[in-house]
This record gives sequence, structure tokens and C-alpha cells, in this order.
Amino acid sequence: MKTSPNNLAEIVLNKRELNVSFEFFPPKTEEMEMKLWEAISNLKNLKPNFVSVTYGAGGSTRERTHQTIQKIIEETDLKPASHLTCVAASKEEIHEILRNYWKIGVRHIVALRGDMPASSPNYQLHKDGYRYANELVAGIRKMADEKMNFEISVAGYPEKHPEAKNYSADIDNLKRKVDAGATRIITQFFFDADVYFSFVEKCRKAGINAPIVPGILPVTNVKQTRHFAKMCGAKIPKWMGEVFEGLDERQETRHLIAGVVAVELCRILHNGGVNDFHFYTLNRAEFTKAICHLLGVREI
Ligand SMILES: Cc1cc2nc3c(=O)[nH]c(=O)nc-3n(C[C@H](O)[C@H](O)[C@H](O)COP(=O)(O)OP(=O)(O)OC[C@H]3O[C@@H](n4cnc5c(N)ncnc54)[C@H](O)[C@@H]3O)c2cc1C
Repeated sequence: MKTSPNNLAEIVLNKRELNVSFEFFPPKTEEMEMKLWEAISNLKNLKPNFVSVTYGAGGSTRERTHQTIQKIIEETDLKPASHLTCVAASKEEIHEILRNYWKIGVRHIVALRGDMPASSPNYQLHKDGYRYANELVAGIRKMADEKMNFEISVAGYPEKHPEAKNYSADIDNLKRKVDAGATRIITQFFFDADVYFSFVEKCRKAGINAPIVPGILPVTNVKQTRHFAKMCGAKIPKWMGEVFEGLDERQETRHLIAGVVAVELCRILHNGGVNDFHFYTLNRAEFTKAICHLLGVREI
């Protein structure tokens, strides 16, 4: 039987250099801490370009993010990227955090506005703060005056950020972030490769030339993913619900399917020319490791 030139075999056999990066979140409990470090030690030999650690909007995880980043620097040779949100913080607080990061060896920031706290619907932006991520990016760039030249990544939304007036206003916003000095865009998760390709096309037409790295979320729990997706404007395609239907009580089967679904998305993206992938690991190694393995990213 003739095989399609786009199939998995081609990816496995014609190993191309792929770049991967992994996102973790700072643990809240000792048990979660153990899980995180198990995941990091399982994934570190895949030699990711960088590993990023999220930051609670409003600074809710400030200490935990900092501690996690510090431990990554002290105990591994991974390159950390620290997420930093600007809601509810003054510019001076942000600059202080950046100075501390620089001091401990952080050279890469994922610059974000952050979400407004759900508990305060009438929440106002900090009067001395950065209002949007593009202002934060410009502020971080300005730290070069103090000899701190951070690499800056920002968030992109293939299905539009939920607060944006419309799709093109959101692309204009992304362009402002890149024009302010961001050098990489990491996307919100999505499940339809065409959504990503069409987003990239619109960005390129708008003159955004920075790399647009797809954010890959392996799904094992559709209910939970629906909840995340609702908050961030991503769509769960109809087939995704169907593929997991009837498997609520069958975790092992769901996990096998989750791997297949994520590999298939990466395969289509790779076939469309994507060589960089950012994985939302949710502090678990197994899916990310299996997907990377199938894509030819092996332990070094
Ligand atoms: C890769 C990635 C990592 C993330 N990591 C974290 C994390 O660690 N912690 C966390 O809390 N959240 C995180 N988020 C979520 C993010 O904080 C939220 O999506 C947040 O609501 C928007 O952040 P932003 O940086 O994209 O904001 P912005 O780029 O500032 O955009 C926010 C909204 O405002 C609109 N906008 C921008 N400028 C203007 C203007 N001048 N006038 C009117 N509207 C405007 C935009 O179109 C958009 O709708 C992450 C998201 C992604 C994709």
C-alpha cells in the first residue's frame, strides 16, 4: 500500500530538527511540588529551548513562581522563562521583580497583561501600572537602560482574545506587542490546525514577522478543557467531545486518546512547516514526552 507523504512514518524516519519548550505552573503543596519536579526531571533531557513558569495575575503566585524559577536555575541546566503579568501592579513593582529576576539569572520573560480577578468584576487597572501587555513589553525593553536585555515572548490568540473588539483589533494589538520589542509569540491552545494556519497568515499580512509558536495542550478531560476554553476564547470542536464520549470512567483509554489527538495536531502542524512547539504540560511529563518522542525529539 502506498503511504501518504504526510504520515507519521515520514516524520519519524526523516528526522527534522524540532524545537520544543515546556510550560509549568508553580506548585501549591508539597505533593504538587514533587509532581512538578518529577515532570521536570523526566522532560529535561529532551533539551527544550526553554521552560516557562506561569505567574498568577495580580501577583498571586509571585513567591512560588520565583522559587520555582530559582530552583530550575540552581538545579538544572534548563533555560527558564518567567511569565510576568502586569494587572494590579505598579510599574515600580514590576521593575523590582525584573531586577530580581535578572539578578538570579533569568533572561527571558513571557510578558502578559493577565486576567482581571474574577472576584472583582469592577476591577480597575493600577493607576501607576502598565495597562496592556504592549506597554509592559515596552517597559521591559526600557530595562536595557539598566543593562538588562531580556528576551521577550508574548501571547497570541488564534481564536481571538475574548475581550478584543474584533479579530483585526486583536491582531493590531499583537502587532503593537511585537513592535514594542517582543521577539516570539506563543499561542493560546487550539485544536484545529487550520485555525493556527489562518492566524499565522493574518499576522504575516499585518506585518508581524516574529515566530508564532503553537501552544499545544494535550486533553485528557474534556469537561475541564471546556472550562479553560470558555475563559480564554478557544473552541472545542464537536469531534473532540465525541472522541471522548462515554469514557468518563475510563482514564487509561482517555489518556491513550489524548496522546493520539495531540500527536495528530502536531503532525499536521509539522507538515505545514511548523518546527517549534510549546507544550502546556500541566506539570505532567508523560503526554509531552510521548508526543515529543513520536515527533523525533529524543533524549540527549
Ligand atoms: C502563552 C500564554 C501564557 C499565559 N500565561 C499566563 C500566566 O502566566 N498568568 C496569567 O495570569 N495569565 C496567563 N495567560 C493568560 C493571559 O494573561 C490572558 O489571556 C489575559 O486576559 C490577556 O493577556 P495578554 O498579555 O494577552 O493581554 P493584552 O495583549 O494586553 O490584551 C488583552 C486584551 O486587551 C485588548 N487590548 C489591548 N490593548 C488595548 C487597547 N489599547 N485598547 C483596548 N483594548 C486593548 C486585546 O485585544 C485583548 O483583548 C497566558 C496566555 C497565553 C496565551
